[in-house]
Amino acid sequence: MPGLRVCVSLAPTNTAHALELMNRAASQGADMVELRLDLMAHYDLEALLCNRPLPVLVTCRSRSQGGGCGAEPSAIAATLQQALAFGADLVDAEEQVLPHLPQEALPRVVVSYHDNSACPADLAAIYKRLTDTGAGVVKLAVRALSIHDNLALFSLLQSARKPTIALAMGEAGILSRILAGRFGAFLSFCALDSTSAVAPGQVPLADMLNLYRAKQISPRTDLYGVIANPVAHSLSPIVHNAAFRACGIDAVYLPLLVEEPLRFLQAFTPLGFRGYSVTIPHKQAVLPALGWVEPLARRVGAVNTIVVEGGQMRGYNTDVEGALRCIEAAFPPGLQWQGARVLLVGAGGLARGLAYGLAERGARLTICNRTPERARALAEELGASWCPLSHLSRLSADVLLQTTSVGMYPREDECVIPRELLRPGLVVYDAVYNPPETKLLRLAREAGCITVSGVGHFIAQAAAQFSLWTGLPAPVSIMEEAMLSRLEAQAHPEQEG
Ligand code: NAP
Repeated sequence: MPGLRVCVSLAPTNTAHALELMNRAASQGADMVELRLDLMAHYDLEALLCNRPLPVLVTCRSRSQGGGCGAEPSAIAATLQQALAFGADLVDAEEQVLPHLPQEALPRVVVSYHDNSACPADLAAIYKRLTDTGAGVVKLAVRALSIHDNLALFSLLQSARKPTIALAMGEAGILSRILAGRFGAFLSFCALDSTSAVAPGQVPLADMLNLYRAKQISPRTDLYGVIANPVAHSLSPIVHNAAFRACGIDAVYLPLLVEEPLRFLQAFTPLGFRGYSVTIPHKQAVLPALGWVEPLARRVGAVNTIVVEGGQMRGYNTDVEGALRCIEAAFPPGLQWQGARVLLVGAGGLARGLAYGLAERGARLTICNRTPERARALAEELGASWCPLSHLSRLSADVLLQTTSVGMYPREDECVIPRELLRPGLVVYDAVYNPPETKLLRLAREAGCITVSGVGHFIAQAAAQFSLWTGLPAPVSIMEEAMLSRLEAQAHPEQEG
C-alpha cells in the first residue's frame, strides 16, 4: 500500500504569497498542496502552476459547499480546465461542476462532496454516486458531531474501490485526518501551521509529520489516546508521541474527544487501541468497562490509565503515585509523609486521589476548599481535618499542595494561596503546569520555599502510563523536553516557524 500523501490546504492572498507558502510547505515535507482559488483575491494561474515546487490540487469551492466562490458551475469548470492546461496535477470538482468538464479530464479530477453541518446517514449511497462519475479520485468531507462519525468514514475507506479521501471536519474528526493512512486514504489535508487552518480540525503540517507521524501509520500501528472532553488543550499527545518515537515504537497517541466513554470504548477498542489515558470528566465513568481495577484506583474511584490486553481492559491510577513521588523527591532531609503536616488546597478529582494516597502514607492532612462542604465531605471520608479557604492564612504546614486550577494559563496572574503562608523550608507543590512556574511557585521561591512544579507530576504520571503499556522504562527527559517546548511555543506562538 503506498504511504499517505499529506496535502497542505492553502488560502494565500495573491500569487506571490501562494508561491511563498507552497515553498514553505515543500521545505517542511508536504507531498502536495491544495490551492483554494475561491479564497484568493487575485491570482495568476499560469505563474502559480508553472512555478509550483510540488504537486498541486486546484480547488475552487462554491458557496453552496462551504467555499467562497459564487460563480456558476460552468464558470468554475472553465477555471479548473484552465488549471489543468497549465499543469495542475489534480483539480477538485464538485458534483454539479463535473458535467461541465470534458471526459478526458476525469482521471485528474477529485469529485467532491461536502456536508459542513453533519455526517449524512446515507454516506455509502453518496459515495457510490461519486464513484460512478468516473472521476479519478473521490472525496467526502463531512462534519463530525461526535467521534463516532469517524467510524462510518473508516469503513467506507476500507471498502473503497478507487482512490478515496474521506474526512470529518471539526475537533471530533481529527482522527479521520491522522489515521487516514491506516485505512488506505488517498491523501489527508492539513494546515501549514497552527494559525492557518482552511477547514475546521486541520492539524498543522509539522504535527502531522513529526508528532503523529501520519505517513508512517499503517494497520500494524498500535493506537493509544487520551479520552477527555474537552481535549484540545491536552499535552498528553505531545509527551506520549515523543516517547513512542524516541523508543522506535510503531504506535500513535491521539486526542479523543469523547462524550460517552463506555460507548466509545466498546466501538473503538477493536480498531487496534492498546491503551488509553482518561481525564476530566471521565475518570469515574469508565469504571464499568474495566475487567480489573487496581486497588488504589478502586478506592479513589478514579482511573486515569487503561491497558487493553487479551480482550480485557485493566484500570490504573498513575496520578496519585506520580504526584506523591515527585513531591517527595523534593523533601528536605528529615521530612517524610508519615506525620508530616500537609495542607491540601482543593477538593476536586486530583485532590481526592492525593488525599487517599496521603492518608495511606500517614500524613496529618488538612483539606481546604472554596466550597467548604466538599472539603468537609472528603475529610470525613478519611478522618482528616478541613477548613474553608478563607482560613488558610491561619494554618501552618510542612507541605502545601495546591490542586485547584487557579493560576493556569491564560489567568496566570492569579494565586489562591495567601503570601503569609509561604515561609522558608515549606514544600510547595502546584498542580498547574501551564505555565511551568505559576505565580504561586514564583512567590514561594522568592519566600525561600522548596517548590515542585506540576510539570514533574504530569511527566511522572505519563511515564508510569508508558511503562504500563509497553513494559519499558519511559524516556522521561525526552517527554519533559517535548512538554516544555510545546508550552513555550504556546506562550510565544509568533515564533512558530
Ligand atoms: P476538578 O475536579 O475540576 O477540581 C477543581 C478544584 O479547583 C476544586 O477544588 C475547585 O473548588 C477548585 N477551584 C476552581 N476554581 C477555583 C477558584 N477560582 N478559586 C478557588 N478554587 C477553585 O479538577 P482536578 O482534576 O482536581 O484538577 C485540578 C487542577 O489540577 C487542574 O488545573 C488540572 O489541570 C491540574 N492537574 C494537574 C495534573 C498534573 O499532572 N500536574 C494532574 C491532574 C490535574 P470548588 O470545589 O469550590 O469548585
